[in-house]
Amino acid sequence: MQKLDHIVLKQINGVSALKEGELHAFGISNVRELLEYYPFRYEDYRLRSLTEVKDGDKITVQAKIIGIPVLQRYGKKSRLTCKLIAEDWMFTATWFNRHFLKDQLTAGREIIVSGKWDGKRMQLTASDAEFPDKGTTRSGTLQPVYSVGGKITQSWMRKTINQALQQFGEMIPELLPQQLIRKYHLIPRKQAVAAIHRPQDNQEGQEARRRMVFEELFLFQLKMQAFRALNRGRMNGVVHTTDNATIREFVRSLPFELTDAQKKVELEILQDMRSPYSMNRLLQGDVGSGKTVIAAIALFATVRSGFQGALMVPTEILAEQHTRSLQKLFEPFGISVGLLTGSVTGRKRKDLLASLQMGLIDIVVGTHALIQEDVFFRQLGLVVTDEQHRFGVNQRSVLRRKGYNPDVLTMTATPIPRTLAITAFGDMDVSTISERPKGRIPISTYWVKHDMMDRVLGFISREVSQGRQAYLICPLIEESDKLDVQNAIDLHIQMQQAFPGFKVGLLHGRMTAGEKEEVMRSFYANEIQLLVSTTVVEVGVDVPNATLMVIMDADRFGLSQLHQLRGRVGRGAYASYCVLIADPKSEIGQERMKVMTETDDGFEVARRDLDLRGPGDFFGTKQSGLPEFRLADMVADFEVLEQAREDAVSLLQDAAFWTSQAYEGLREYLQQEQIFQGDLID
Ligand code: ADP
Ligand code: MG
Repeated sequence: MQKLDHIVLKQINGVSALKEGELHAFGISNVRELLEYYPFRYEDYRLRSLTEVKDGDKITVQAKIIGIPVLQRYGKKSRLTCKLIAEDWMFTATWFNRHFLKDQLTAGREIIVSGKWDGKRMQLTASDAEFPDKGTTRSGTLQPVYSVGGKITQSWMRKTINQALQQFGEMIPELLPQQLIRKYHLIPRKQAVAAIHRPQDNQEGQEARRRMVFEELFLFQLKMQAFRALNRGRMNGVVHTTDNATIREFVRSLPFELTDAQKKVELEILQDMRSPYSMNRLLQGDVGSGKTVIAAIALFATVRSGFQGALMVPTEILAEQHTRSLQKLFEPFGISVGLLTGSVTGRKRKDLLASLQMGLIDIVVGTHALIQEDVFFRQLGLVVTDEQHRFGVNQRSVLRRKGYNPDVLTMTATPIPRTLAITAFGDMDVSTISERPKGRIPISTYWVKHDMMDRVLGFISREVSQGRQAYLICPLIEESDKLDVQNAIDLHIQMQQAFPGFKVGLLHGRMTAGEKEEVMRSFYANEIQLLVSTTVVEVGVDVPNATLMVIMDADRFGLSQLHQLRGRVGRGAYASYCVLIADPKSEIGQERMKVMTETDDGFEVARRDLDLRGPGDFFGTKQSGLPEFRLADMVADFEVLEQAREDAVSLLQDAAFWTSQAYEGLREYLQQEQIFQGDLID
């Protein structure tokens, strides 16, 4: 669409320099961007028959004026009524503050009115009117509704986009290869863009949407698959040489046997690591499925092949926990593990960085501190990132560039149905740990209302008296006048009063790293029995003696978040419990609590969450890390997404296409995405 990119908005008739500036605020700076500013819904001004309308409908009808208009004025306000007839139905139209219409309401004249219908009183509260003898613009059509604001009004936006379509619509280029247009009987791009703004009828609107959704998903898949192919094609990644016997030595030292699911993903990962292309693999598995040990095996393999490994995690607490557990696992093998977080400073940091660069440290565990500019490795072979959705793609690639194409393993416990994951993260290969280690005592989950709090306290008392520990999670840190939900600071005080015999700790995101660390250390050591916290404990924290998870105002959390929190217990040999305290008012809210009590399988939770919320709000939005589109919806349009993926893969293999004229339309798009013809065919 390069030509339209270079046409400035002022070239559209009726767009002044002032208006141009205002459009910039909407992220619209050229004609292409204006034409791609799609409406989010339509208003229906198509003509209806009064025989088929219902009370309260917003309708548009054509009628004939049969009475004399009556105008009543109330100061600046006015009320205008007139008798009309449509197909033998007589009714009264009423306009508020439209006194200027009065002179146009002459008996016998045809009029088209839109408004709200009241069939009992045979009355239409009209918002506007058009007269066929003067020509109509709106009547009989679907009118787009754009997201507007400030000085840009809805009608100005409609008019301007219309004008742009008239002046420049012919220049809208085709992007999709003809073979796909034919295969799916898609309408041309020109027509589709115009119809998205001004559909003639429902059918054209749907055809336009179908075409543009396919295009969006196809281009997305093409980009992903191109990256993936590039990656696979480049045989310049790290080649790990560790043999099976060496790996087995380490696996045998573990205190348990790997599950079949773990063995399967272990194999997938080692195969990638041994090959000369760089691995880019997503490892997903429910909480407690044993991802950490898989990461440890991969790190072991990189060290035994003569490289260094890095493990990046989202919080300092986790970094410390992983450092401890890796140190324990690797000590017998003489593998050194370093820790680098924001709290490691001064002399300590300097020494650590020097050892890393000289290769004296085999494995470094850390937070974002790992991707600072002055961190160098001698030979980085493998990067593992935990809890992928907390890191942006860019942060991952910064760490990746610290080595020469190291292998990358990304772990996530956000359960995404496998098929969706494969397609959504199209540039990654996906491994899934599909089962949890056997012999775990399942976590019993209960949902209770706030008025049961006394019994919950009794329950806490019982567990802690038996030597166990408990978490109490609150949605807020401190009192808020906007939200009437439990806050951690108040609850901490209440719990101290309720349980004078126990130590009650407090943990939240506004404490310093040192303070948090101290609290967590005490909780690990069972010096604290009850931990009142916000969701900072959500990810990965592992205290096997904790058996009770109480979540206050649980309806405030997303289901996948609740599932993560629940995963903090049930990690040891004891029976564990999760208590959700919530009084949700809506039916869906209640249903969500029930889902939690009915299953403790993360993938099942995700699936039911999806059913309840419907597409468009998958996993509580941003957290999911799923890509977003203008018109397409990754979940609702999932079948199209899969189809588009197949088409992208086969197009990439079609060498003849990439050297033919047919490729022209795509060239521009791919170049914008930094993918070049030379990359696609060698
Ligand atoms: P997650 O996938 O949530 O990161 P972890 O790796 O923390 O899970 O594992 C959860 C717990 O299960 C840990 O205590 C770990 O030692 C243990 N574990 C991992 N794999 C196995 C296995 N195959 N058999 C028994 N326990 C296991
Ligand atoms: Mg984990």
